[in-house]
Amino acid sequence: MKTLIRNIKIFDGEQLLDSEHAVLVEGERIVAIMPSASAPPAASGMTVLEGNGRTLMPGMVEAHSHLTWGSSVEKIYHQFILPADELKVAAWRNARVLLDHGFTSAYSAGALGDGIEVELARAIEAGETPGPRLIPSTLERSPEGAEGVETGDVFNGRGPEAIRKFVSYCKDQGIGSIKLVVSGEDALKPGSAKEVLYTDEEMEAAGQAAREAGLWIATHAYYPKAIELALKAGARIIYHASYADEAAADAMIAAKDATFYAPSPGVSIAALEATPPPHIDMSHMKTSAAERMELEAKLVPALKARGMRILIGGDYGFPFNPIGRNARDLQIFVDHFGYSPTEALHAATALGGELMGLDVGRVKQGWLADLLLIDGDPTQDVSILQDKARIAMIMKGGALHKVPSA
Ligand SMILES: [Zn+2]
Repeated sequence: MKTLIRNIKIFDGEQLLDSEHAVLVEGERIVAIMPSASAPPAASGMTVLEGNGRTLMPGMVEAHSHLTWGSSVEKIYHQFILPADELKVAAWRNARVLLDHGFTSAYSAGALGDGIEVELARAIEAGETPGPRLIPSTLERSPEGAEGVETGDVFNGRGPEAIRKFVSYCKDQGIGSIKLVVSGEDALKPGSAKEVLYTDEEMEAAGQAAREAGLWIATHAYYPKAIELALKAGARIIYHASYADEAAADAMIAAKDATFYAPSPGVSIAALEATPPPHIDMSHMKTSAAERMELEAKLVPALKARGMRILIGGDYGFPFNPIGRNARDLQIFVDHFGYSPTEALHAATALGGELMGLDVGRVKQGWLADLLLIDGDPTQDVSILQDKARIAMIMKGGALHKVPSA
Protein backbone atom coordinates (compact mmCIF):
# COMPACT_ATOMS: atom_id res chain seq x y z
CA MET A 1 0.00 0.00 0.00
CA LYS A 2 1.59 3.26 -1.21
CA THR A 3 0.48 6.83 -0.63
CA LEU A 4 1.88 9.77 -2.55
CA ILE A 5 1.33 13.22 -1.07
CA ARG A 6 2.30 15.81 -3.68
CA ASN A 7 2.49 19.56 -4.21
CA ILE A 8 3.32 20.28 -0.62
CA LYS A 9 5.63 22.48 1.36
CA ILE A 10 7.43 20.46 4.02
CA PHE A 11 8.41 21.39 7.54
CA ASP A 12 10.70 18.45 8.24
CA GLY A 13 11.09 18.88 12.00
CA GLU A 14 13.95 21.38 11.63
CA GLN A 15 13.08 23.77 8.82
CA LEU A 16 10.76 24.55 5.97
CA LEU A 17 12.08 23.08 2.71
CA ASP A 18 12.22 25.81 0.11
CA SER A 19 10.24 24.47 -2.83
CA GLU A 20 7.24 22.26 -3.44
CA HIS A 21 7.84 18.62 -2.65
CA ALA A 22 6.22 15.22 -2.64
CA VAL A 23 6.43 12.42 -0.09
CA LEU A 24 5.96 8.74 -0.79
CA VAL A 25 4.74 6.52 2.03
CA GLU A 26 4.83 2.76 1.86
CA GLY A 27 3.38 0.67 4.66
CA GLU A 28 3.98 2.57 7.86
CA ARG A 29 7.10 4.47 6.76
CA ILE A 30 8.24 7.37 4.61
CA VAL A 31 10.19 5.87 1.72
CA ALA A 32 11.05 8.97 -0.32
CA ILE A 33 10.99 12.76 -0.25
CA MET A 34 11.50 14.52 -3.57
CA PRO A 35 10.76 17.74 -5.46
CA SER A 36 7.21 17.66 -6.85
CA ALA A 37 8.60 17.69 -10.39
CA SER A 38 10.30 14.33 -9.92
CA ALA A 39 7.42 12.61 -8.10
CA PRO A 40 6.37 9.29 -9.62
CA PRO A 41 3.19 9.28 -11.71
CA ALA A 42 0.02 7.94 -10.13
CA ALA A 43 -0.08 4.17 -10.47
CA SER A 44 -2.52 1.45 -9.56
CA GLY A 45 -2.31 0.49 -5.92
CA MET A 46 -1.15 4.01 -5.08
CA THR A 47 -3.29 6.58 -3.31
CA VAL A 48 -2.52 10.13 -4.41
CA LEU A 49 -3.26 12.99 -2.05
CA GLU A 50 -3.16 16.50 -3.48
CA GLY A 51 -1.43 18.95 -1.17
CA ASN A 52 -2.42 22.06 -3.13
CA GLY A 53 0.48 23.98 -1.62
CA ARG A 54 -0.40 23.14 1.96
CA THR A 55 2.31 22.30 4.50
CA LEU A 56 3.21 18.75 5.49
CA MET A 57 4.73 18.43 8.94
CA PRO A 58 5.41 15.67 11.48
CA GLY A 59 2.64 14.79 13.90
CA MET A 60 3.10 16.60 17.21
CA VAL A 61 4.26 15.06 20.48
CA GLU A 62 2.58 15.87 23.82
CA ALA A 63 5.33 15.43 26.41
CA HIS A 64 3.22 15.90 29.54
CA SER A 65 0.05 13.96 28.89
CA HIS A 66 -2.70 12.96 31.32
CA LEU A 67 -5.29 11.11 29.25
CA THR A 68 -7.13 10.04 32.40
CA TRP A 69 -7.73 13.60 33.49
CA GLY A 70 -11.27 13.67 32.22
CA SER A 71 -11.94 17.01 30.57
CA SER A 72 -11.58 17.52 26.85
CA VAL A 73 -12.89 20.07 24.39
CA GLU A 74 -15.71 17.59 23.75
CA LYS A 75 -16.72 16.96 27.36
CA ILE A 76 -15.99 18.83 30.57
CA TYR A 77 -16.06 17.05 33.93
CA HIS A 78 -16.29 19.13 37.07
CA GLN A 79 -15.08 16.36 39.34
CA PHE A 80 -11.45 15.24 39.11
CA ILE A 81 -11.86 11.61 40.17
CA LEU A 82 -14.28 9.67 37.98
CA PRO A 83 -15.91 6.28 38.61
CA ALA A 84 -13.91 3.49 36.93
CA ASP A 85 -16.28 2.90 34.01
CA GLU A 86 -16.58 6.61 33.23
CA LEU A 87 -12.81 7.02 33.58
CA LYS A 88 -12.28 4.47 30.87
CA VAL A 89 -14.78 6.15 28.55
CA ALA A 90 -13.05 9.50 29.16
CA ALA A 91 -9.52 8.15 28.60
CA TRP A 92 -10.47 6.40 25.36
CA ARG A 93 -12.22 9.56 24.15
CA ASN A 94 -9.29 11.77 25.19
CA ALA A 95 -6.85 9.65 23.19
CA ARG A 96 -8.98 10.15 20.09
CA VAL A 97 -9.43 13.89 20.81
CA LEU A 98 -5.67 14.34 21.13
CA LEU A 99 -5.08 12.59 17.79
CA ASP A 100 -7.89 14.62 16.19
CA HIS A 101 -5.93 17.74 17.16
CA GLY A 102 -2.71 16.67 15.48
CA PHE A 103 -0.86 14.84 18.27
CA THR A 104 0.35 11.48 17.02
CA SER A 105 2.49 10.74 20.10
CA ALA A 106 2.02 11.23 23.82
CA TYR A 107 4.30 10.63 26.78
CA SER A 108 2.27 10.01 29.91
CA ALA A 109 2.91 12.03 33.03
CA GLY A 110 0.75 9.75 35.13
CA ALA A 111 -2.69 8.21 35.27
CA LEU A 112 -5.63 8.33 37.64
CA GLY A 113 -6.39 4.66 37.29
CA ASP A 114 -4.12 1.70 37.75
CA GLY A 115 -3.46 -0.32 34.60
CA ILE A 116 -5.75 1.81 32.45
CA GLU A 117 -3.08 3.40 30.26
CA VAL A 118 -1.39 0.08 29.55
CA GLU A 119 -4.74 -1.22 28.31
CA LEU A 120 -5.31 1.95 26.30
CA ALA A 121 -1.83 1.89 24.74
CA ARG A 122 -2.37 -1.74 23.68
CA ALA A 123 -5.81 -0.95 22.24
CA ILE A 124 -4.35 1.96 20.25
CA GLU A 125 -1.47 -0.13 18.97
CA ALA A 126 -3.83 -2.93 17.96
CA GLY A 127 -5.93 -0.42 16.01
CA GLU A 128 -8.98 -1.05 18.19
CA THR A 129 -9.34 2.60 19.14
CA PRO A 130 -7.87 5.79 17.66
CA GLY A 131 -5.17 7.59 19.58
CA PRO A 132 -1.56 8.72 19.64
CA ARG A 133 1.38 6.41 20.19
CA LEU A 134 1.42 6.30 23.97
CA ILE A 135 4.18 5.73 26.51
CA PRO A 136 1.86 4.58 29.30
CA SER A 137 2.26 5.29 32.97
CA THR A 138 0.48 4.37 36.14
CA LEU A 139 -0.69 6.21 39.24
CA GLU A 140 1.44 9.20 40.08
CA ARG A 141 3.46 8.25 43.07
CA SER A 142 3.96 10.44 46.08
CA PRO A 143 5.10 8.84 49.33
CA GLU A 144 2.96 8.08 52.33
CA GLY A 145 2.12 11.07 54.48
CA ALA A 146 3.32 13.55 51.87
CA GLU A 147 1.03 16.22 50.47
CA GLY A 148 1.60 15.41 46.86
CA VAL A 149 -0.71 15.45 43.93
CA GLU A 150 -3.83 13.66 45.14
CA THR A 151 -4.23 10.60 42.98
CA GLY A 152 -5.54 7.89 45.24
CA ASP A 153 -2.05 6.46 45.42
CA VAL A 154 -1.86 2.91 46.71
CA PHE A 155 1.86 2.13 46.47
CA ASN A 156 3.22 4.86 48.64
CA GLY A 157 5.17 3.15 51.41
CA ARG A 158 8.39 4.75 52.60
CA GLY A 159 11.97 3.71 52.08
CA PRO A 160 14.06 2.31 49.24
CA GLU A 161 12.50 -1.15 49.47
CA ALA A 162 8.95 0.23 49.00
CA ILE A 163 10.00 2.14 45.92
CA ARG A 164 11.75 -0.91 44.46
CA LYS A 165 8.52 -2.84 44.91
CA PHE A 166 6.61 -0.09 43.14
CA VAL A 167 9.04 -0.15 40.21
CA SER A 168 8.80 -3.91 39.89
CA TYR A 169 4.99 -3.68 40.04
CA CYS A 170 5.13 -1.11 37.21
CA LYS A 171 7.36 -3.40 35.19
CA ASP A 172 4.88 -6.27 35.59
CA GLN A 173 2.02 -3.99 34.55
CA GLY A 174 3.77 -3.19 31.27
CA ILE A 175 4.12 0.57 31.71
CA GLY A 176 6.80 2.61 29.94
CA SER A 177 7.41 5.47 32.35
CA ILE A 178 7.05 5.84 36.10
CA LYS A 179 5.77 9.16 37.41
CA LEU A 180 7.31 10.40 40.63
CA VAL A 181 5.92 13.48 42.32
CA VAL A 182 9.13 14.79 43.89
CA SER A 183 7.83 18.26 44.77
CA GLY A 184 4.50 19.21 46.30
CA GLU A 185 2.08 21.36 44.31
CA ASP A 186 1.28 24.96 45.26
CA ALA A 187 -1.87 24.99 43.19
CA LEU A 188 -3.30 22.33 45.52
CA LYS A 189 -1.67 23.33 48.78
CA PRO A 190 -0.01 26.76 48.93
CA GLY A 191 3.66 26.58 49.87
CA SER A 192 3.95 22.83 49.28
CA ALA A 193 5.93 23.15 46.03
CA LYS A 194 8.96 23.83 48.26
CA GLU A 195 8.55 20.47 49.95
CA VAL A 196 10.67 17.57 48.77
CA LEU A 197 8.64 14.38 49.06
CA TYR A 198 11.39 11.80 48.69
CA THR A 199 14.68 11.10 50.40
CA ASP A 200 18.00 10.75 48.59
CA GLU A 201 17.96 7.00 49.31
CA GLU A 202 14.47 6.58 47.87
CA MET A 203 15.30 8.44 44.66
CA GLU A 204 18.57 6.54 44.24
CA ALA A 205 16.65 3.28 44.65
CA ALA A 206 14.06 4.47 42.13
CA GLY A 207 16.75 5.28 39.59
CA GLN A 208 18.58 2.01 40.04
CA ALA A 209 15.42 -0.13 39.96
CA ALA A 210 14.06 1.70 36.90
CA ARG A 211 17.34 1.25 35.02
CA GLU A 212 17.35 -2.47 35.82
CA ALA A 213 13.71 -2.80 34.77
CA GLY A 214 14.24 -0.80 31.57
CA LEU A 215 11.71 1.83 32.58
CA TRP A 216 11.84 5.60 32.23
CA ILE A 217 11.13 8.06 35.04
CA ALA A 218 9.12 11.27 34.70
CA THR A 219 9.27 13.75 37.57
CA HIS A 220 7.21 16.60 38.93
CA ALA A 221 9.90 18.88 40.40
CA TYR A 222 9.90 22.60 41.23
CA TYR A 223 12.79 23.53 43.51
CA PRO A 224 16.55 22.87 43.30
CA LYS A 225 16.61 19.96 45.73
CA ALA A 226 13.79 18.16 43.91
CA ILE A 227 15.50 18.79 40.58
CA GLU A 228 18.75 17.42 42.00
CA LEU A 229 16.97 14.25 43.16
CA ALA A 230 15.22 13.84 39.80
CA LEU A 231 18.56 14.08 38.00
CA LYS A 232 20.21 11.72 40.46
CA ALA A 233 17.52 9.15 39.65
CA GLY A 234 18.30 9.58 35.94
CA ALA A 235 14.89 11.08 35.13
CA ARG A 236 14.10 11.03 31.43
CA ILE A 237 12.02 14.14 31.83
CA ILE A 238 11.58 16.90 34.40
CA TYR A 239 8.31 18.84 34.53
CA HIS A 240 8.07 22.47 35.70
CA ALA A 241 11.49 23.16 37.37
CA SER A 242 10.21 26.73 37.77
CA TYR A 243 12.30 27.58 40.83
CA ALA A 244 15.58 26.23 39.49
CA ASP A 245 18.52 28.33 40.69
CA GLU A 246 21.84 28.65 38.90
CA ALA A 247 23.22 25.41 40.31
CA ALA A 248 20.07 23.48 39.38
CA ALA A 249 20.18 24.93 35.87
CA ASP A 250 23.83 23.89 35.57
CA ALA A 251 22.92 20.38 36.73
CA MET A 252 20.14 20.17 34.13
CA ILE A 253 22.57 21.25 31.43
CA ALA A 254 25.11 18.68 32.59
CA ALA A 255 22.41 16.01 32.10
CA LYS A 256 21.02 17.39 28.84
CA ASP A 257 21.92 14.40 26.69
CA ALA A 258 19.80 12.10 28.86
CA THR A 259 17.12 14.33 30.34
CA PHE A 260 14.41 16.43 28.72
CA TYR A 261 12.59 19.40 30.23
CA ALA A 262 8.93 20.36 29.83
CA PRO A 263 8.01 23.55 31.71
CA SER A 264 4.32 22.88 31.04
CA PRO A 265 3.03 26.45 30.79
CA GLY A 266 -0.33 25.46 29.28
CA VAL A 267 -1.90 24.84 32.65
CA SER A 268 -0.48 28.07 34.09
CA ILE A 269 -1.79 30.28 31.30
CA ALA A 270 -5.18 28.56 31.40
CA ALA A 271 -5.38 29.04 35.18
CA LEU A 272 -4.60 32.74 34.78
CA GLU A 273 -7.31 33.13 32.15
CA ALA A 274 -9.95 31.04 33.90
CA THR A 275 -13.09 32.72 35.20
CA PRO A 276 -14.47 30.08 37.57
CA PRO A 277 -17.94 30.26 39.12
CA PRO A 278 -18.02 31.82 42.63
CA HIS A 279 -18.04 28.47 44.48
CA ILE A 280 -14.71 27.43 42.91
CA ASP A 281 -11.68 29.13 44.42
CA MET A 282 -8.78 29.28 41.99
CA SER A 283 -6.91 32.07 43.75
CA HIS A 284 -3.99 29.86 44.88
CA MET A 285 -3.71 28.39 41.42
CA LYS A 286 -3.65 31.84 39.85
CA THR A 287 -1.03 33.22 42.25
CA SER A 288 1.16 30.18 41.73
CA ALA A 289 0.70 30.30 37.94
CA ALA A 290 1.66 33.98 37.72
CA GLU A 291 4.78 33.42 39.79
CA ARG A 292 5.84 30.38 37.76
CA MET A 293 5.30 32.06 34.41
CA GLU A 294 7.47 34.97 35.49
CA LEU A 295 10.29 32.64 36.52
CA GLU A 296 9.98 30.38 33.49
CA ALA A 297 10.07 33.39 31.15
CA LYS A 298 13.72 33.73 32.22
CA LEU A 299 14.62 30.10 32.88
CA VAL A 300 13.33 28.55 29.66
CA PRO A 301 15.15 30.85 27.20
CA ALA A 302 18.37 30.53 29.25
CA LEU A 303 18.22 26.71 29.23
CA LYS A 304 17.31 26.65 25.54
CA ALA A 305 20.33 28.81 24.72
CA ARG A 306 22.51 26.24 26.50
CA GLY A 307 21.16 23.32 24.47
CA MET A 308 18.56 21.81 26.80
CA ARG A 309 15.91 19.83 24.92
CA ILE A 310 12.73 21.61 25.98
CA LEU A 311 9.37 20.16 25.04
CA ILE A 312 5.80 21.27 24.75
CA GLY A 313 3.01 19.66 26.75
CA GLY A 314 1.21 21.13 29.63
CA ASP A 315 -1.02 19.22 32.03
CA TYR A 316 -4.14 19.39 29.85
CA GLY A 317 -7.28 17.69 31.17
CA PHE A 318 -8.69 20.12 33.74
CA PRO A 319 -12.08 21.71 33.03
CA PHE A 320 -10.34 25.07 32.46
CA ASN A 321 -7.58 23.46 30.40
CA PRO A 322 -9.25 20.66 28.44
CA ILE A 323 -7.47 18.07 26.29
CA GLY A 324 -7.61 19.15 22.65
CA ARG A 325 -6.13 22.59 23.31
CA ASN A 326 -2.62 21.16 23.59
CA ALA A 327 -1.27 22.99 20.52
CA ARG A 328 -1.69 26.21 22.50
CA ASP A 329 1.65 25.40 24.09
CA LEU A 330 3.44 26.28 20.83
CA GLN A 331 1.99 29.78 20.85
CA ILE A 332 2.83 30.13 24.55
CA PHE A 333 6.45 29.23 23.79
CA VAL A 334 6.47 31.99 21.16
CA ASP A 335 4.70 34.59 23.31
CA HIS A 336 6.37 33.92 26.67
CA PHE A 337 9.64 32.08 26.06
CA GLY A 338 10.99 33.94 23.02
CA TYR A 339 10.74 31.03 20.61
CA SER A 340 10.39 31.60 16.89
CA PRO A 341 7.48 29.66 15.36
CA THR A 342 10.01 27.29 13.76
CA GLU A 343 11.70 26.64 17.10
CA ALA A 344 8.34 25.91 18.74
CA LEU A 345 7.53 23.49 15.92
CA HIS A 346 10.93 21.82 16.33
CA ALA A 347 10.20 21.34 20.04
CA ALA A 348 6.74 19.90 19.28
CA THR A 349 8.02 17.48 16.65
CA ALA A 350 11.70 16.51 16.34
CA LEU A 351 12.56 16.97 20.02
CA GLY A 352 9.34 15.32 21.15
CA GLY A 353 10.20 12.37 18.93
CA GLU A 354 13.53 12.02 20.75
CA LEU A 355 11.65 11.80 24.04
CA MET A 356 9.46 9.02 22.63
CA GLY A 357 12.57 7.08 21.57
CA LEU A 358 10.88 6.28 18.25
CA ASP A 359 11.47 7.25 14.61
CA VAL A 360 8.86 10.00 14.86
CA GLY A 361 8.85 13.79 14.83
CA ARG A 362 10.60 14.26 11.49
CA VAL A 363 9.70 14.04 7.85
CA LYS A 364 12.63 11.86 6.96
CA GLN A 365 13.27 8.91 4.70
CA GLY A 366 12.84 5.64 6.59
CA TRP A 367 10.95 7.24 9.48
CA LEU A 368 7.44 6.43 10.59
CA ALA A 369 4.81 8.26 8.55
CA ASP A 370 3.19 10.26 11.36
CA LEU A 371 2.24 13.29 9.31
CA LEU A 372 -0.07 16.29 9.29
CA LEU A 373 -1.14 18.37 6.32
CA ILE A 374 -1.75 21.94 7.44
CA ASP A 375 -3.84 24.50 5.64
CA GLY A 376 -1.37 27.38 5.88
CA ASP A 377 2.25 27.73 6.96
CA PRO A 378 2.82 27.02 10.66
CA THR A 379 6.42 28.27 10.42
CA GLN A 380 4.86 31.73 10.00
CA ASP A 381 2.08 31.30 12.54
CA VAL A 382 1.84 28.40 14.99
CA SER A 383 -1.58 29.52 16.22
CA ILE A 384 -3.19 27.92 13.16
CA LEU A 385 -2.41 24.53 14.71
CA GLN A 386 -5.03 25.25 17.36
CA ASP A 387 -7.72 25.17 14.70
CA LYS A 388 -8.59 21.57 14.03
CA ALA A 389 -10.25 22.55 10.74
CA ARG A 390 -6.85 23.63 9.41
CA ILE A 391 -5.36 20.20 10.07
CA ALA A 392 -6.45 18.84 6.72
CA MET A 393 -4.89 15.39 7.08
CA ILE A 394 -3.75 13.26 10.00
CA MET A 395 -1.70 10.17 9.25
CA LYS A 396 -0.24 7.81 11.83
CA GLY A 397 2.07 5.00 10.78
CA GLY A 398 1.00 5.44 7.16
CA ALA A 399 -2.70 5.04 7.99
CA LEU A 400 -5.04 7.96 7.51
CA HIS A 401 -6.92 9.05 10.61
CA LYS A 402 -8.24 12.09 8.77
CA VAL A 403 -8.49 12.11 5.00
CA PRO A 404 -7.90 15.46 3.30
CA SER A 405 -10.79 16.96 1.40
CA ALA A 406 -10.14 17.68 -2.29
ZN1 LIG B 1 1.22 16.72 35.26
